[in-house]
Amino acid sequence: MILPRALSAGQKYAVTIAYGGKDAVVNTGGGNYYPIARDDWYPNGPNLTLGDYASFDMTFRIPKGMKIAATGDLVSDQNDGGQNVTVWKSGPQAVAGFNFGRFKMQENRIEKPDYLVQSYANEEPPDEVRSLLNYAQHDLPTQGPHEAESVALGNMSTVPLIKKALAEGTLSVQLYNEYFGPSAYKRLAITQQTACNYGQAWPELVWIPMCYFYDTTIRHQLGMDYDRGYWKIVTPHEVAHQWWGHTVGFSSYRDQWMSEGFAEMSASLYLQMVEKNPQKFISFWNDERDLLLERDKEGWRAIDAGPVTMGYRMSNSRTGEGVTRRLIYPKGGYILHMVRMMMWDRRTGDENFKATMHDFVKTYTNQAATTEQFKAMVEKHMTPEMDLTGNHKLDWFFDEYVYGTGLPTYKLDYTFEKDSSGDVVFGLKVTQSNVDDKFRMLIPIYLELADGHVVNLGRARVAGNTSVEQKVPLKGLKEMPKRAMLNYFDDVLASP
Ligand SMILES: [Zn+2]
Repeated sequence: MILPRALSAGQKYAVTIAYGGKDAVVNTGGGNYYPIARDDWYPNGPNLTLGDYASFDMTFRIPKGMKIAATGDLVSDQNDGGQNVTVWKSGPQAVAGFNFGRFKMQENRIEKPDYLVQSYANEEPPDEVRSLLNYAQHDLPTQGPHEAESVALGNMSTVPLIKKALAEGTLSVQLYNEYFGPSAYKRLAITQQTACNYGQAWPELVWIPMCYFYDTTIRHQLGMDYDRGYWKIVTPHEVAHQWWGHTVGFSSYRDQWMSEGFAEMSASLYLQMVEKNPQKFISFWNDERDLLLERDKEGWRAIDAGPVTMGYRMSNSRTGEGVTRRLIYPKGGYILHMVRMMMWDRRTGDENFKATMHDFVKTYTNQAATTEQFKAMVEKHMTPEMDLTGNHKLDWFFDEYVYGTGLPTYKLDYTFEKDSSGDVVFGLKVTQSNVDDKFRMLIPIYLELADGHVVNLGRARVAGNTSVEQKVPLKGLKEMPKRAMLNYFDDVLASP
């Protein structure tokens, strides 16, 4: 854009842009509309990452009987000669968007925090899914082992699952409010979108891939057997972007790992705290590590391709186009998970971590944050134990995992003996290898007690390719533990 004359400092200048077109959405049948308007669909600044905040006024005219869910507050909703006209006004937002279809809606008003959570889905499947349904009903025998499959395919309406999305959305909002503090919003619409295999998050609005609403049998019929990482946690991941990417933006492509990684880590909290399933939590982190360590067809492991701060520049013809996706989501998640696990305290649990994240969200609400600003925030709240270099800095950790590509290997040798009073004495030797000489880490040690309980015994400090050995008397413990483990909760990203 070239202005008629140069602006003076501080001068305001309004630009009005009019444009039109008919390809904002594509009719996919059954009242479903695929959203084409999913990224730079309106005039905006040059920074297409989520760092520019502006307020948006939007007016939508849609046919009667259809529904729209958009970003911002709904300020009016009227009929105008066979059309429905809604007006939406927002506070500061990084982006603006909407979802459109013949939706049914249910909502939940919660008090803590004060939030309205809504869930939208369409009764009818799009044509593509409907044709699959006809095909399946013709080709599958109506009796015998395939009957269940046929019946399941006959019930593809997503409406009964509105409640599932509503419940997951509500619980996610409550959990993240507790861990991260208030988001910038008071409302969230969780909406079904026609695309089967990916979602998208907007301020106060998320698009959940349609296949989420189907069970695994139907997903199998649709060729969607991929069931790792994101797919298991799609709603908690997309809801987490209300905090990561929207309330707190990211300054450039170098900081995008925080948005995707923090959303992944938030979803792991959901598995642990809401589903209360430690096994799912552990297998989630194992899946994330597998994503980092598997080789693509170009022969690259994502973890070796480069640091997370390279962002989407990492994907190229040499490393493979998918490498960034397989790097910044799982490794970004691991980085925050490792911070949480280092801050965890036997007496106060996650309180240090929560204080850090509340401070981070409060400080950067409606602003774009950088990786260095996040580092400074963690340094502000770090525990004395994390100060491995004695200078109140976390360069050691950020150089290894954020700006570096380190991946240590750990080995634990141990013995259990009894001392003269009958108490257990734990002898341990922790070995760190495959790192450079400066690589430092706090490695948590766990015991599985005779009754099956797993307890955190403390953390070993190791620097370089070396071992530390110690004898630890476990005062008062008479029964031999079943076993000792390092990194039981995948606390440190390391070779399996
Ligand atoms: Zn995401």
